[in-house]
Amino acid sequence: MPNQAPSTSCDVTVIGAGLSGKAAALHLSRAGLKVVCIEPQQAVRPPVGESLDWSAPALFEQLGLSQENLLASNIATWKKHVTLKMRDGCDVHYVPSTWLGGRPFHVNLFTLHVERTQLDGEILKMVVDQGITLVRDRVIDIDIDIESDGKKIRSVRTEGGQRFISPWFIDTSGMGTPLVARKFNLPAVQYGPTKVAMWTYFKVSQQVEGTTLYMDALPTEYLEWIWEIPVSTATVSVGYIAPGAAVKAKRDQGLSIDDIFQQHLMQFPHFEPRLQQMANGSVHVNVTSFRCRVHLQCAGPNWLLAGEAAALVDPMTSNGVTAALRQASEAAALILKYRKRGELPGHARKSYSSRIVQMAKFFNEGIEKIVYEPQVRNRIGLGIAGEAYTSPAWSMNVVYARLSPPGLFATLILGAMLGFFRVSAAICYWYCGLNKSSVAKQECRIE
Ligand SMILES: Cc1cc2nc3c(=O)[nH]c(=O)nc-3n(C[C@H](O)[C@H](O)[C@H](O)COP(=O)(O)OP(=O)(O)OC[C@H]3O[C@@H](n4cnc5c(N)ncnc54)[C@H](O)[C@@H]3O)c2cc1C
Repeated sequence: MPNQAPSTSCDVTVIGAGLSGKAAALHLSRAGLKVVCIEPQQAVRPPVGESLDWSAPALFEQLGLSQENLLASNIATWKKHVTLKMRDGCDVHYVPSTWLGGRPFHVNLFTLHVERTQLDGEILKMVVDQGITLVRDRVIDIDIDIESDGKKIRSVRTEGGQRFISPWFIDTSGMGTPLVARKFNLPAVQYGPTKVAMWTYFKVSQQVEGTTLYMDALPTEYLEWIWEIPVSTATVSVGYIAPGAAVKAKRDQGLSIDDIFQQHLMQFPHFEPRLQQMANGSVHVNVTSFRCRVHLQCAGPNWLLAGEAAALVDPMTSNGVTAALRQASEAAALILKYRKRGELPGHARKSYSSRIVQMAKFFNEGIEKIVYEPQVRNRIGLGIAGEAYTSPAWSMNVVYARLSPPGLFATLILGAMLGFFRVSAAICYWYCGLNKSSVAKQECRIE
């Protein structure tokens, strides 16, 4: 009985206090709004997302977390390049060219890796210090405002029996429980198969620099890969991503998650010393499954989706944190702009949704067609496929940052550029599929 639940009123209710939820709450509260942020006592997924895109430091800066302070407090390490290591011993380095750092571009050539537990704790402290009400509960349902033809949200209800009423809502509840999307039956597009990610943390005696991806690209198979990310001077995050079907087949053979994780890491001699730490039982392997997708509508009259609740981009793109922070900032700005009007106008909803959809399509389609599926990488080699994907992906984030604040015109320009790259990837995919029997080329620089 919703109306019997004790109710709380505020200006904005934020569902979820992950990265995007906390960021949105901070932006709104600093502008003087009364914000309630609802997050379960136990987070739905352990924090992950440690190798940042080049646009992320500026977004953290907006929140009040400078790159220098993050590095000085050992919450972050430098990410100056990405290395792709293949099982045959080849490696390829992806480093932004130094001329991009000079005039007229002035592009940030370095970014960060972050230790997520510490980083999330730091932002949580900012949320509490800002006076934002953090409610430890889980949202289980949404009440629709009947007077709005069922298009507006009136309140949300929690497992603990509380009810939160506000004129505005942001759903940042991540990939697991798309409450608003389900309530409004929002259409979504999915990319690639369901994937499983397993990851853990190892102590290292020597600091590692840069993100390293380990791959063994078999010509007939969908790609599986391993990441190694130095999240602090003494710790690396190591994760393995594989299609859900491949993991299920191994589970059916009786292998545990730890067995599957170790079995895959063992293929690369680099991980031998790390795996010895697993032998003494001190290492816990986290696991989650996900399917990349984007909701085609990410805003309604008084609600917005942000972060993974709106779009889930593949972890290999290192774009999740940037997207979450960017969408949190844009969602907050829209609420502040149209607050007095009481609802978002159609064009604001459309352009907000369009930017999320275009970016998610670009990242997910690109990585699936060019890197995960064998068609293109067999033809041009994994190293070049990586380059062909990385350069436009990196550039488009830079373009996005430069077009900000994104109005209708900027959204159209962005859409045209993203569309161009998507069509190019589709043509390349089609062309490479014409002669599948061509010999796979191995192009890489051996260090
Ligand atoms: C395996 C993996 C690796 C990744 N690696 C990278 C990377 O290297 N670089 C990168 O940039 N990104 C990466 N990402 C993406 C990144 O983790 C996320 O995009 C980022 O953390 C932003 O998340 P969010 O705030 O949208 O969601 P989340 O961080 O998932 O936050 C959602 C919050 O909502 C809460 N919640 C859920 N349901 C409810 C409910 N019903 N009521 C109230 N609260 C609720 C959850 O407890 C959670 O705290 C990776 C993702 C995965 C899965």
